[in-house]
Amino acid sequence: MKKAQLIIEKSTTGQVATSIPALDVPEKVISDLIPSKYLRANAPRLPEVSEPELVRHYIGISTKNHHVDKDLYPLGSCTMKYNPKINDWTASVLAEVHPYQPEELSQGLLGVYHELEQQLCAITGMTAFTLQPAAGSQGELVGVLLMRKYHELRGNDKDVILIPSAAHGTNPASVAMAGYKVVEIKSNSKGLVDLEDFESKINDRVAGFMLTNPNTLGLFEENISKISELIHAVDGIMYMDGANMNALLGITRPADLGFDITHLNLHKTFSTPHGGGGPGAGPIGVTDKLAAYLPRPRVELHEDKYHLEYGYEQSIGRVHGFYGNFGILLRAWTYIRMLGPDGLKNISEIAISNANYMMHKLKDVFELAYDRTCLHEFVLSAQAQKEKGTNALHIAKRLLDFGFHSPTMYFPLIVKEALMIEPTESENKETMDRFISVMKQIAEEVETNPEMVQSAPHSTPIGKVDETYANRNLNVRW
Ligand SMILES: *Cc1c(COP(=O)(O)O)cnc(C)c1O
Repeated sequence: MKKAQLIIEKSTTGQVATSIPALDVPEKVISDLIPSKYLRANAPRLPEVSEPELVRHYIGISTKNHHVDKDLYPLGSCTMKYNPKINDWTASVLAEVHPYQPEELSQGLLGVYHELEQQLCAITGMTAFTLQPAAGSQGELVGVLLMRKYHELRGNDKDVILIPSAAHGTNPASVAMAGYKVVEIKSNSKGLVDLEDFESKINDRVAGFMLTNPNTLGLFEENISKISELIHAVDGIMYMDGANMNALLGITRPADLGFDITHLNLHKTFSTPHGGGGPGAGPIGVTDKLAAYLPRPRVELHEDKYHLEYGYEQSIGRVHGFYGNFGILLRAWTYIRMLGPDGLKNISEIAISNANYMMHKLKDVFELAYDRTCLHEFVLSAQAQKEKGTNALHIAKRLLDFGFHSPTMYFPLIVKEALMIEPTESENKETMDRFISVMKQIAEEVETNPEMVQSAPHSTPIGKVDETYANRNLNVRW
């Protein structure tokens, strides 16, 4: 396939894609105002292209990369579902509001925030939410800071947070950033928290437990009530990493399972675009006992007027400029309003049945790490294929030749050669069947033509990358 041409290579002197008004300030004014060391000596070398060429350039590169509008994106734990275009419409209509616009003129927007917080409370069973955190991982950090505040104010002397071995890497990182020690809990043969190991590690030093439910194997923690009871018995806090909420909508609520704090990834479950680093939103919800410590300001409704309340004396403080990632919050609000309670429940039901369908169709071809009914995702192991010389990375790259994004690889760490697949509810049976048949074809190639898989991809704009070379000789300039 033809290599992408840099836009500078398409440049022809004199071509313009846009016209800007002529400078109406004397140039001298500018040079008087800006110290000369900040002024450019020479005009920058910018590409000169016409508007159609500019549009073709960007459309061209957008189709060279994989994205969810192009085909299935089964990246486990990331919930790469389709993002309805109406979400973007709502966000663009309201994008022009200035963050310093006075409260009296921002009633509608504050109302959206307030309503979104109420919706998230209804979905999770929590009693209060903050929309400030900009990512799941930032939500985790905020959650652990709330825990710390709780223990400080109660005079609890605690320094340990328990985390299962299947956890997402951000969990131990957030705990360490907030100044706690991580103690890892083993997983048992069913892929769940090993209760014996868990009980042996509970003591008065334990500030809390951080658990992803369903966990990163796509399995629901059966002993969650017992776990919550044991943690609460030492005045610990139960934290749910709710990034996988796509499996629980309308079916169960974190608060009902004994959790005191949860974050949600709006950019996963609530369908706002992600990948490529953001932006996102990781709101944090808490039960009554932690509500006073939430970041301020909080949106409140008094006598039919919304306002931002700064007066929370015990708050851990602000964690985001203004009130969070507005465009993402609006998209999530639109999505929830559009679906309503029944629609949300339907999402989780379809996400779960899609994952189970794919799991059953693929488990004869690739080893299934834990052979049980899964929730929104499942984890295969390419260990048997690796023993024949073709590993999970080779298989992931070969999938690109068929126009699919790869599953999540080498995670969770407790499964060798892991391929973690999450179809989401967006995919219909025909798309899933196409993916299944490609996976079967690749498994066949591992036996009959392994070279084909090991040297993939063959049909992408960029072929197999020498990752060691790329890392050691990073060059991000053109
Ligand atoms: C995605 C994810 C996170 C982190 O969320 P970010 O928004 O990427 O910071 C945390 N835990 C789990 C289980 C996740 O899947």
